[in-house]
Amino acid sequence: MIIKGFNTFRNRITLLTGGLLLSLSLVLITYLYHVATTRLSTASGESLVNISQSISTMLSANLIEREREIILLSKRSSLFKEQDLSDLQEAIDQIKDSYKYYAWIGFANPDGVVLASGNGLLKGADVSQRPWFINGQAGAFIGDVHKALLLERLLPKSQTGTPIRFIDFSAPVMGEDGELKGVVATHADWLWVDDVLSSAFTQVSERKGVDIFIIDNENNVLYPDNDLGDIEVPSALPQENQFQSLVWQDGEDYLTSLVAVNFPESTNLGWKVVVRQPTAIAMADVKEVHRLLLVLGVFSTLLCMWLAYRFASSLSRPLERLAKTARNIQQGNRNVSFQDDSQLKEVTSLSRSLQEMMSSLLDRERTLLQLTVTLEAKVKARTAQLEASNRSLEALARQDPLTKIFNRLALDEALLKEYELAREHNTEFAIIMADADYFKKVNDQYGHTVGDNVLKNIANVMKDIVDSAGMAARFGGEEFTVLLPNTQIEKAQQVAETLREKIASTEMDTGLFVTASFGVAMFKMTDDHYEQVLNRADAALYKAKDRGRNCVVVSD
Ligand code: GH3
Ligand code: MG
Ligand code: MG
Repeated sequence: MIIKGFNTFRNRITLLTGGLLLSLSLVLITYLYHVATTRLSTASGESLVNISQSISTMLSANLIEREREIILLSKRSSLFKEQDLSDLQEAIDQIKDSYKYYAWIGFANPDGVVLASGNGLLKGADVSQRPWFINGQAGAFIGDVHKALLLERLLPKSQTGTPIRFIDFSAPVMGEDGELKGVVATHADWLWVDDVLSSAFTQVSERKGVDIFIIDNENNVLYPDNDLGDIEVPSALPQENQFQSLVWQDGEDYLTSLVAVNFPESTNLGWKVVVRQPTAIAMADVKEVHRLLLVLGVFSTLLCMWLAYRFASSLSRPLERLAKTARNIQQGNRNVSFQDDSQLKEVTSLSRSLQEMMSSLLDRERTLLQLTVTLEAKVKARTAQLEASNRSLEALARQDPLTKIFNRLALDEALLKEYELAREHNTEFAIIMADADYFKKVNDQYGHTVGDNVLKNIANVMKDIVDSAGMAARFGGEEFTVLLPNTQIEKAQQVAETLREKIASTEMDTGLFVTASFGVAMFKMTDDHYEQVLNRADAALYKAKDRGRNCVVVSD
């Protein structure tokens, strides 16, 4: 069926156009999709890098700010008097009030004993083993994010219920003589990161599924809160300031960017800002464009197929009309024409040629028809002539040339028929054999011509008398035979008698009278050939001759 449908001119052109256009559209769409994907991926990736960079910049600015604050405090030597730390206490309170995320600010002497602190928290406590104290003796120090230990009990619980985490900043306090007088430190609440991020991270970004992570040197997640350690970043992260498409632990594909946080010179904790966005969301626009392109491609293909179909139809319709005309002519309709109003030169030329061909064929057909009619008439006439000739030939073949009555052949045929009829239907027939008496003498005396005339006259007499009752034939020489169908013996004898009398009384030539002898025989059911009837009649005839001639003898 498909192949059958493909066999029409218009379907082929339509399918070919559709196929070509669809392939072309697909190639174009694939190319455009590839270009758009690459462009959008680059744009999205770069935008993620930008977000990472701005977060990193803000984080780093904040860290530097906090560190500078503690260094500035440590440098204010006038505050660190041996006996009176009230000025220090005042300065500490001022600093704590200036930045809401300072959970604790304090000063510990070289032995690690807290001498002054905000709100007096941990005053007198031993912090000699705390990393900030140990590291802070040598220079400015930033301690990595850690849970509150000593302060845990002293500080109010966080709103979210998550454990309080700090990032420590410490710096040594040196006396004028360069001798260590102690260490100042601040514990900043890790919650400040939320602040930093919320200012860097617009709502638009949030809606686009963007997630932000801060990870430490060993790729442990510091932000968001990862107390249970269930958040993991992929092991192979992008290079610094780069982005790449990565599969995360949830099995989803994310565009992921990485930017390192710039730390103050004193301490580099190696933090990195990792920003990710589901590739599906990042590429949603391009998917939409892809869908649109596909719809457009299919639509334009269908439109072109329709146009191609119309175009092909305009080409094939005149051809179909020509074919229909040809079919009409083939079916015997002569009142059609190949004339076509097509605008196509080729079709017009073809239809003209077909029209001329049809005219010439029709002319020939007419001529042939006339010839056939003439021929048929001639054949008919000839056949009639032949039949007439045959009939006359047949008649001639069954006629005795001299007497013009039936000859022996005609007699034999009629006898056979009558014999079969009699056998089949139990009918009767009689045979009369006649022989001119002393005919030799007639010839001798009057000559053959007279003899012939006598024979003709005898034949005429017999024909007239037998008439429709039977058939009279010349048996040969001066012998005659009469066949009488459906005739009984008495009637046959009567006919023979009549014949005998009439011959004897007829003047055959001037003053010439002849007689004839007759033998009569009937068909018998015991006969197995009609010859037997003839033989009996002949035998009776001989008897008539014996009895003195001019008489009739009937066979037993
Ligand atoms: P019978 O009474 O015993 O019959 O004597 P017949 O002379 O008639 O018998 P035969 O058979 O001796 O002679 C028959 C003669 O008939 C002989 C022949 O010359 C003659 N004849 C036979 N056919 C023709 C014919 O066509 N024309 C003429 N003119 N004579 C014929
Ligand atoms: Mg004879
Ligand atoms: Mg005779």
